[in-house]
Amino acid sequence: MSERPLLNRRLAGLGTTIFAEMSALATATGSINLGQGFPDTDGPREIAEAAARAVLTGHGNQYPPGPGIPELRQAVAEHQQRFHGLTYDPDTEVLVTAGATEAIAATLLALLEPGDEVIALEPFYDSYAACIAMAGAVRVPLTLRAPSFRPDLDELRALVTPRTRLLLLNTPHNPTGTVLHPDELRAIAELAVERDLLVVTDEVYEHLVFSGAHHPIAALPGMRERTVTISSAGKTFSFTGWKVGWVTAVPALVSAVRTAKQYLTYVSAGPFQYAVAEALRLPDAYFDSFRADLRRKRDLLCDGLSAAGFTVFRPEGTYFITTDITPLGEKDGLEFCRALPGRCGVVAIPNVVFYDDTEAGRSLVRFTFCKRDDVLEEAVARLSRL
Ligand code: PMP
Ligand code: GLN
Repeated sequence: MSERPLLNRRLAGLGTTIFAEMSALATATGSINLGQGFPDTDGPREIAEAAARAVLTGHGNQYPPGPGIPELRQAVAEHQQRFHGLTYDPDTEVLVTAGATEAIAATLLALLEPGDEVIALEPFYDSYAACIAMAGAVRVPLTLRAPSFRPDLDELRALVTPRTRLLLLNTPHNPTGTVLHPDELRAIAELAVERDLLVVTDEVYEHLVFSGAHHPIAALPGMRERTVTISSAGKTFSFTGWKVGWVTAVPALVSAVRTAKQYLTYVSAGPFQYAVAEALRLPDAYFDSFRADLRRKRDLLCDGLSAAGFTVFRPEGTYFITTDITPLGEKDGLEFCRALPGRCGVVAIPNVVFYDDTEAGRSLVRFTFCKRDDVLEEAVARLSRL
Protein backbone atom coordinates (compact mmCIF):
# COMPACT_ATOMS: atom_id res chain seq x y z
CA MET A 1 0.00 0.00 0.00
CA SER A 2 1.16 3.52 -0.73
CA GLU A 3 1.84 6.03 2.02
CA ARG A 4 -1.19 7.97 0.96
CA PRO A 5 -3.82 8.16 3.74
CA LEU A 6 -6.99 6.24 2.93
CA LEU A 7 -9.33 8.91 4.24
CA ASN A 8 -9.35 11.86 1.89
CA ARG A 9 -8.04 15.26 2.92
CA ARG A 10 -11.51 16.77 3.13
CA LEU A 11 -12.53 14.32 5.86
CA ALA A 12 -9.18 14.11 7.64
CA GLY A 13 -9.56 14.88 11.32
CA LEU A 14 -13.31 14.28 11.46
CA GLY A 15 -12.90 10.87 13.14
CA THR A 16 -15.79 9.29 15.05
CA THR A 17 -18.66 11.61 15.97
CA ILE A 18 -18.65 12.65 19.58
CA PHE A 19 -22.18 11.26 19.92
CA ALA A 20 -21.10 7.76 18.91
CA GLU A 21 -18.02 7.95 21.13
CA MET A 22 -19.92 9.11 24.18
CA SER A 23 -22.90 6.74 23.72
CA ALA A 24 -20.46 3.82 23.39
CA LEU A 25 -18.77 4.99 26.60
CA ALA A 26 -22.16 5.12 28.34
CA THR A 27 -22.94 1.56 27.24
CA ALA A 28 -19.50 0.23 28.14
CA THR A 29 -19.60 1.77 31.63
CA GLY A 30 -23.32 1.38 32.34
CA SER A 31 -23.55 5.13 32.87
CA ILE A 32 -26.57 7.40 32.62
CA ASN A 33 -26.37 8.85 29.13
CA LEU A 34 -27.06 12.58 29.18
CA GLY A 35 -24.82 12.90 26.11
CA GLN A 36 -26.41 12.07 22.76
CA GLY A 37 -29.79 13.73 22.36
CA PHE A 38 -32.35 10.96 22.17
CA PRO A 39 -35.31 10.46 24.48
CA ASP A 40 -35.60 7.40 26.70
CA THR A 41 -39.37 7.33 26.16
CA ASP A 42 -40.82 6.76 22.71
CA GLY A 43 -43.27 9.15 21.06
CA PRO A 44 -47.07 8.77 20.87
CA ARG A 45 -48.40 5.23 20.79
CA GLU A 46 -50.88 6.02 18.00
CA ILE A 47 -48.05 7.22 15.79
CA ALA A 48 -46.05 4.05 16.45
CA GLU A 49 -49.20 2.10 15.56
CA ALA A 50 -49.55 4.08 12.35
CA ALA A 51 -46.01 3.00 11.41
CA ALA A 52 -46.76 -0.64 12.22
CA ARG A 53 -49.99 -0.44 10.24
CA ALA A 54 -48.17 1.02 7.25
CA VAL A 55 -45.72 -1.89 7.25
CA LEU A 56 -48.47 -4.49 7.63
CA THR A 57 -50.72 -3.00 4.98
CA GLY A 58 -47.96 -2.54 2.46
CA HIS A 59 -47.63 1.23 2.58
CA GLY A 60 -44.07 2.28 1.86
CA ASN A 61 -42.51 -1.18 1.91
CA GLN A 62 -41.22 -0.60 -1.60
CA TYR A 63 -39.35 2.52 -2.74
CA PRO A 64 -41.53 5.54 -2.00
CA PRO A 65 -41.55 8.42 -4.52
CA GLY A 66 -38.25 10.35 -4.70
CA PRO A 67 -39.58 13.61 -3.25
CA GLY A 68 -41.45 11.78 -0.45
CA ILE A 69 -44.98 10.37 -0.32
CA PRO A 70 -47.66 12.95 -1.23
CA GLU A 71 -49.42 12.52 2.15
CA LEU A 72 -46.27 13.57 4.01
CA ARG A 73 -45.44 16.46 1.68
CA GLN A 74 -48.99 17.72 2.16
CA ALA A 75 -48.70 17.34 5.95
CA VAL A 76 -45.38 19.23 5.99
CA ALA A 77 -46.93 22.07 3.96
CA GLU A 78 -49.91 22.18 6.35
CA HIS A 79 -47.57 22.19 9.35
CA GLN A 80 -45.58 25.15 7.98
CA GLN A 81 -48.84 27.02 7.45
CA ARG A 82 -50.40 26.07 10.77
CA PHE A 83 -47.44 26.88 13.01
CA HIS A 84 -45.52 29.51 11.06
CA GLY A 85 -47.92 31.02 8.51
CA LEU A 86 -45.60 29.89 5.69
CA THR A 87 -47.18 28.72 2.45
CA TYR A 88 -45.38 25.99 0.49
CA ASP A 89 -46.64 23.95 -2.43
CA PRO A 90 -46.42 20.28 -1.40
CA ASP A 91 -45.57 19.21 -4.94
CA THR A 92 -42.77 21.61 -5.78
CA GLU A 93 -41.63 23.15 -2.49
CA VAL A 94 -41.30 20.21 -0.08
CA LEU A 95 -38.72 17.43 -0.16
CA VAL A 96 -38.63 14.51 2.27
CA THR A 97 -35.15 13.39 3.39
CA ALA A 98 -33.47 10.78 5.58
CA GLY A 99 -33.61 12.95 8.68
CA ALA A 100 -32.40 16.50 8.91
CA THR A 101 -28.91 15.05 8.56
CA GLU A 102 -29.45 14.13 4.93
CA ALA A 103 -31.25 17.41 4.30
CA ILE A 104 -28.17 19.28 5.56
CA ALA A 105 -25.81 17.14 3.50
CA ALA A 106 -27.83 17.34 0.29
CA THR A 107 -28.38 21.07 0.66
CA LEU A 108 -24.72 21.88 1.21
CA LEU A 109 -23.53 19.47 -1.50
CA ALA A 110 -26.03 20.97 -3.92
CA LEU A 111 -25.50 24.65 -3.24
CA LEU A 112 -21.76 25.00 -2.63
CA GLU A 113 -18.83 25.21 -4.99
CA PRO A 114 -15.36 24.29 -3.71
CA GLY A 115 -13.89 27.37 -2.06
CA ASP A 116 -17.22 28.97 -1.21
CA GLU A 117 -17.40 30.35 2.31
CA VAL A 118 -20.18 29.33 4.69
CA ILE A 119 -20.77 31.40 7.79
CA ALA A 120 -22.15 29.22 10.56
CA LEU A 121 -22.97 29.76 14.20
CA GLU A 122 -20.18 28.33 16.32
CA PRO A 123 -20.39 25.97 18.23
CA PHE A 124 -21.56 24.06 15.13
CA TYR A 125 -23.60 20.87 15.17
CA ASP A 126 -21.02 18.32 14.06
CA SER A 127 -22.49 17.38 10.69
CA TYR A 128 -22.21 20.98 9.47
CA ALA A 129 -18.43 20.94 9.58
CA ALA A 130 -18.34 17.52 7.90
CA CYS A 131 -20.75 18.46 5.11
CA ILE A 132 -19.10 21.79 4.43
CA ALA A 133 -15.83 19.87 4.19
CA MET A 134 -17.32 17.24 1.85
CA ALA A 135 -18.52 20.05 -0.40
CA GLY A 136 -14.95 21.41 -0.46
CA ALA A 137 -16.21 24.67 1.01
CA VAL A 138 -14.77 26.70 3.86
CA ARG A 139 -16.48 27.22 7.19
CA VAL A 140 -16.32 30.64 8.76
CA PRO A 141 -17.46 30.66 12.38
CA LEU A 142 -19.59 33.32 13.99
CA THR A 143 -18.87 32.43 17.59
CA LEU A 144 -21.64 32.53 20.17
CA ARG A 145 -19.83 33.38 23.39
CA ALA A 146 -20.75 32.66 27.01
CA PRO A 147 -22.58 33.79 29.00
CA SER A 148 -25.27 35.04 26.59
CA PHE A 149 -24.42 32.99 23.48
CA ARG A 150 -26.02 35.70 21.30
CA PRO A 151 -24.68 36.36 17.79
CA ASP A 152 -22.67 39.58 17.37
CA LEU A 153 -24.32 41.07 14.31
CA ASP A 154 -21.52 43.55 13.59
CA GLU A 155 -19.09 40.67 13.62
CA LEU A 156 -21.37 38.78 11.25
CA ARG A 157 -21.40 41.68 8.81
CA ALA A 158 -17.62 41.86 8.95
CA LEU A 159 -17.31 38.14 8.16
CA VAL A 160 -19.08 38.43 4.81
CA THR A 161 -16.64 38.48 1.88
CA PRO A 162 -17.13 38.21 -1.89
CA ARG A 163 -16.63 34.45 -1.45
CA THR A 164 -19.46 34.05 1.08
CA ARG A 165 -22.22 31.97 -0.47
CA LEU A 166 -24.35 30.90 2.40
CA LEU A 167 -25.34 31.54 6.01
CA LEU A 168 -25.99 28.35 7.96
CA LEU A 169 -28.30 29.01 10.89
CA ASN A 170 -29.62 26.78 13.61
CA THR A 171 -32.45 28.02 15.81
CA PRO A 172 -33.14 26.79 18.47
CA HIS A 173 -29.40 26.21 18.60
CA ASN A 174 -27.70 22.97 19.57
CA PRO A 175 -25.73 22.94 21.92
CA THR A 176 -26.21 26.40 23.50
CA GLY A 177 -30.02 26.51 23.54
CA THR A 178 -30.00 30.00 22.01
CA VAL A 179 -33.18 30.90 20.13
CA LEU A 180 -32.62 33.66 17.59
CA HIS A 181 -34.77 36.67 18.45
CA PRO A 182 -36.87 38.58 15.89
CA ASP A 183 -34.48 41.57 15.82
CA GLU A 184 -31.50 39.28 15.23
CA LEU A 185 -33.29 37.41 12.47
CA ARG A 186 -34.29 40.70 10.85
CA ALA A 187 -30.69 41.91 10.84
CA ILE A 188 -29.47 38.59 9.42
CA ALA A 189 -32.17 38.66 6.74
CA GLU A 190 -31.31 42.22 5.73
CA LEU A 191 -27.66 41.26 5.40
CA ALA A 192 -28.55 38.18 3.33
CA VAL A 193 -30.63 40.29 0.95
CA GLU A 194 -28.04 43.07 0.74
CA ARG A 195 -25.17 40.65 0.02
CA ASP A 196 -27.29 38.22 -1.98
CA LEU A 197 -26.57 35.23 0.26
CA LEU A 198 -28.40 31.94 0.53
CA VAL A 199 -29.61 30.98 3.99
CA VAL A 200 -29.92 27.42 5.25
CA THR A 201 -31.73 27.16 8.56
CA ASP A 202 -31.84 24.03 10.70
CA GLU A 203 -35.00 24.18 12.79
CA VAL A 204 -35.24 20.63 14.15
CA TYR A 205 -36.01 22.00 17.64
CA GLU A 206 -38.76 24.33 16.37
CA HIS A 207 -41.26 22.90 18.88
CA LEU A 208 -38.89 23.17 21.83
CA VAL A 209 -38.86 26.88 22.61
CA PHE A 210 -39.47 27.66 26.27
CA SER A 211 -39.36 31.46 26.31
CA GLY A 212 -40.55 33.62 23.46
CA ALA A 213 -41.37 31.82 20.23
CA HIS A 214 -39.73 30.15 17.30
CA HIS A 215 -39.44 32.51 14.33
CA PRO A 216 -38.56 31.04 10.94
CA ILE A 217 -36.31 33.36 8.96
CA ALA A 218 -38.04 32.23 5.76
CA ALA A 219 -41.03 34.40 6.78
CA LEU A 220 -39.06 37.67 6.60
CA PRO A 221 -39.08 39.99 3.58
CA GLY A 222 -36.84 38.84 0.75
CA MET A 223 -36.10 35.53 2.44
CA ARG A 224 -38.53 33.06 0.91
CA GLU A 225 -36.61 32.87 -2.35
CA ARG A 226 -33.19 32.43 -0.71
CA THR A 227 -33.90 30.22 2.30
CA VAL A 228 -33.79 26.46 2.67
CA THR A 229 -35.60 25.47 5.87
CA ILE A 230 -34.78 22.08 7.35
CA SER A 231 -36.59 20.13 10.03
CA SER A 232 -37.34 16.59 11.04
CA ALA A 233 -39.64 14.34 13.03
CA GLY A 234 -36.98 12.89 15.31
CA LYS A 235 -37.01 15.52 18.04
CA THR A 236 -40.59 16.74 17.79
CA PHE A 237 -42.17 13.29 17.99
CA SER A 238 -39.50 11.41 19.97
CA PHE A 239 -38.72 8.90 17.25
CA THR A 240 -35.10 9.75 16.50
CA GLY A 241 -34.46 6.35 14.91
CA TRP A 242 -37.02 6.83 12.15
CA LYS A 243 -34.95 9.44 10.34
CA VAL A 244 -37.70 11.30 8.55
CA GLY A 245 -36.74 14.87 7.72
CA TRP A 246 -37.74 17.51 5.21
CA VAL A 247 -36.75 20.62 3.34
CA THR A 248 -39.07 23.47 2.46
CA ALA A 249 -37.96 26.09 -0.06
CA VAL A 250 -38.89 27.59 -3.42
CA PRO A 251 -38.94 25.16 -6.37
CA ALA A 252 -35.49 26.10 -7.73
CA LEU A 253 -33.84 25.43 -4.35
CA VAL A 254 -35.81 22.24 -3.71
CA SER A 255 -34.89 21.01 -7.16
CA ALA A 256 -31.19 21.67 -6.51
CA VAL A 257 -31.31 19.87 -3.16
CA ARG A 258 -33.24 16.97 -4.68
CA THR A 259 -30.56 16.52 -7.31
CA ALA A 260 -27.98 15.80 -4.60
CA LYS A 261 -30.42 13.88 -2.39
CA GLN A 262 -31.24 11.41 -5.19
CA TYR A 263 -27.68 10.14 -5.12
CA LEU A 264 -27.27 10.01 -1.35
CA THR A 265 -30.15 7.75 -0.30
CA TYR A 266 -32.54 8.18 -3.22
CA VAL A 267 -35.41 7.50 -0.75
CA SER A 268 -35.80 6.25 2.81
CA ALA A 269 -38.14 5.32 5.67
CA GLY A 270 -41.18 4.45 3.46
CA PRO A 271 -43.64 3.27 6.14
CA PHE A 272 -42.45 5.87 8.65
CA GLN A 273 -43.35 8.61 6.20
CA TYR A 274 -47.03 7.61 6.57
CA ALA A 275 -46.76 7.73 10.35
CA VAL A 276 -45.03 11.11 10.37
CA ALA A 277 -47.76 12.53 8.11
CA GLU A 278 -50.19 11.63 10.92
CA ALA A 279 -47.88 12.98 13.60
CA LEU A 280 -47.63 16.39 11.96
CA ARG A 281 -51.42 16.64 12.15
CA LEU A 282 -51.65 15.88 15.88
CA PRO A 283 -53.71 18.46 17.77
CA ASP A 284 -52.09 21.48 19.43
CA ALA A 285 -52.44 19.70 22.78
CA TYR A 286 -49.67 17.27 21.74
CA PHE A 287 -47.19 20.01 20.90
CA ASP A 288 -48.13 22.05 23.99
CA SER A 289 -47.74 19.19 26.43
CA PHE A 290 -44.50 18.02 24.78
CA ARG A 291 -43.04 21.48 25.28
CA ALA A 292 -44.39 21.85 28.82
CA ASP A 293 -42.97 18.48 29.79
CA LEU A 294 -39.54 19.34 28.42
CA ARG A 295 -39.64 22.78 30.09
CA ARG A 296 -40.18 21.09 33.43
CA LYS A 297 -37.31 18.69 32.75
CA ARG A 298 -35.11 21.61 31.75
CA ASP A 299 -35.78 23.28 35.08
CA LEU A 300 -35.24 20.06 37.00
CA LEU A 301 -31.83 19.48 35.40
CA CYS A 302 -30.79 23.17 35.44
CA ASP A 303 -31.51 23.39 39.17
CA GLY A 304 -29.75 20.11 39.85
CA LEU A 305 -26.65 21.09 37.88
CA SER A 306 -26.51 24.48 39.62
CA ALA A 307 -26.79 22.82 43.00
CA ALA A 308 -23.99 20.43 41.98
CA GLY A 309 -21.74 23.44 41.35
CA PHE A 310 -21.86 23.87 37.57
CA THR A 311 -22.39 27.28 35.99
CA VAL A 312 -25.63 26.73 34.12
CA PHE A 313 -26.68 28.63 31.00
CA ARG A 314 -30.44 28.08 31.04
CA PRO A 315 -31.46 27.34 27.44
CA GLU A 316 -34.34 29.15 25.73
CA GLY A 317 -34.85 26.14 23.49
CA THR A 318 -33.69 22.60 22.49
CA TYR A 319 -33.29 19.78 25.00
CA PHE A 320 -29.71 20.58 25.91
CA ILE A 321 -28.12 22.53 28.73
CA THR A 322 -24.67 23.99 28.29
CA THR A 323 -22.72 24.32 31.52
CA ASP A 324 -19.30 25.61 32.53
CA ILE A 325 -17.22 23.29 34.70
CA THR A 326 -14.77 25.98 35.91
CA PRO A 327 -16.46 26.34 39.35
CA LEU A 328 -15.78 22.62 39.92
CA GLY A 329 -12.07 23.33 39.59
CA GLU A 330 -12.03 21.83 36.08
CA LYS A 331 -10.79 23.44 32.89
CA ASP A 332 -10.93 20.88 30.13
CA GLY A 333 -14.38 19.65 29.07
CA LEU A 334 -13.04 16.82 26.93
CA GLU A 335 -10.97 15.37 29.78
CA PHE A 336 -13.85 15.94 32.17
CA CYS A 337 -16.34 14.09 29.94
CA ARG A 338 -13.98 11.17 29.34
CA ALA A 339 -13.45 10.80 33.10
CA LEU A 340 -17.04 11.44 34.18
CA PRO A 341 -18.38 7.87 33.71
CA GLY A 342 -15.60 6.53 35.94
CA ARG A 343 -16.04 9.27 38.51
CA CYS A 344 -19.82 9.18 38.86
CA GLY A 345 -21.50 7.13 36.14
CA VAL A 346 -22.80 9.97 33.96
CA VAL A 347 -22.06 10.75 30.31
CA ALA A 348 -22.09 14.28 28.86
CA ILE A 349 -20.81 15.96 25.70
CA PRO A 350 -17.77 18.28 25.64
CA ASN A 351 -18.84 21.35 23.65
CA VAL A 352 -15.24 22.00 22.56
CA VAL A 353 -15.63 19.50 19.71
CA PHE A 354 -18.13 21.90 18.10
CA TYR A 355 -15.63 24.79 18.00
CA ASP A 356 -12.79 25.90 15.76
CA ASP A 357 -12.00 28.47 18.44
CA THR A 358 -11.29 25.80 21.02
CA GLU A 359 -10.55 28.35 23.75
CA ALA A 360 -14.16 29.57 23.53
CA GLY A 361 -15.50 26.08 24.25
CA ARG A 362 -12.82 24.42 26.37
CA SER A 363 -14.63 24.40 29.71
CA LEU A 364 -18.18 23.94 28.38
CA VAL A 365 -20.09 20.68 28.76
CA ARG A 366 -23.55 19.79 27.43
CA PHE A 367 -26.18 17.67 29.19
CA THR A 368 -29.47 16.57 27.63
CA PHE A 369 -32.68 16.55 29.63
CA CYS A 370 -34.86 14.44 27.27
CA LYS A 371 -34.87 11.63 29.85
CA ARG A 372 -37.32 10.31 32.43
CA ASP A 373 -37.52 12.37 35.62
CA ASP A 374 -36.14 9.54 37.77
CA VAL A 375 -33.15 9.26 35.42
CA LEU A 376 -32.49 13.01 35.62
CA GLU A 377 -32.84 12.91 39.41
CA GLU A 378 -30.40 10.01 39.70
CA ALA A 379 -27.95 11.80 37.38
CA VAL A 380 -28.15 14.94 39.52
CA ALA A 381 -27.57 12.90 42.68
CA ARG A 382 -24.47 11.34 41.11
CA LEU A 383 -23.15 14.66 39.81
CA SER A 384 -23.57 16.32 43.18
CA ARG A 385 -21.04 13.87 44.61
CA LEU A 386 -18.32 15.34 42.37
N1 PMP B 1 -29.56 19.31 13.39
C1 PMP B 1 -29.43 19.45 14.71
C2 PMP B 1 -29.17 20.80 15.27
C3 PMP B 1 -29.53 18.35 15.55
O1 PMP B 1 -29.38 18.49 16.85
C4 PMP B 1 -29.78 17.09 14.98
C5 PMP B 1 -29.90 15.88 15.85
N2 PMP B 1 -31.23 15.51 15.85
C6 PMP B 1 -29.91 16.98 13.59
C7 PMP B 1 -29.79 18.11 12.84
C8 PMP B 1 -30.15 15.68 12.93
O2 PMP B 1 -31.48 15.38 12.85
P1 PMP B 1 -31.99 13.97 12.29
O3 PMP B 1 -31.88 13.00 13.39
O4 PMP B 1 -33.39 14.26 11.87
O5 PMP B 1 -31.12 13.62 11.13
N1 GLN C 1 -28.61 15.57 17.47
C1 GLN C 1 -28.15 14.69 18.51
C2 GLN C 1 -27.34 15.47 19.51
O1 GLN C 1 -26.98 16.59 19.27
C3 GLN C 1 -27.29 13.57 18.02
C4 GLN C 1 -27.59 13.01 16.69
C5 GLN C 1 -26.45 12.17 16.23
O2 GLN C 1 -25.94 11.35 16.97
N2 GLN C 1 -26.02 12.40 15.03
O3 GLN C 1 -27.03 14.96 20.53
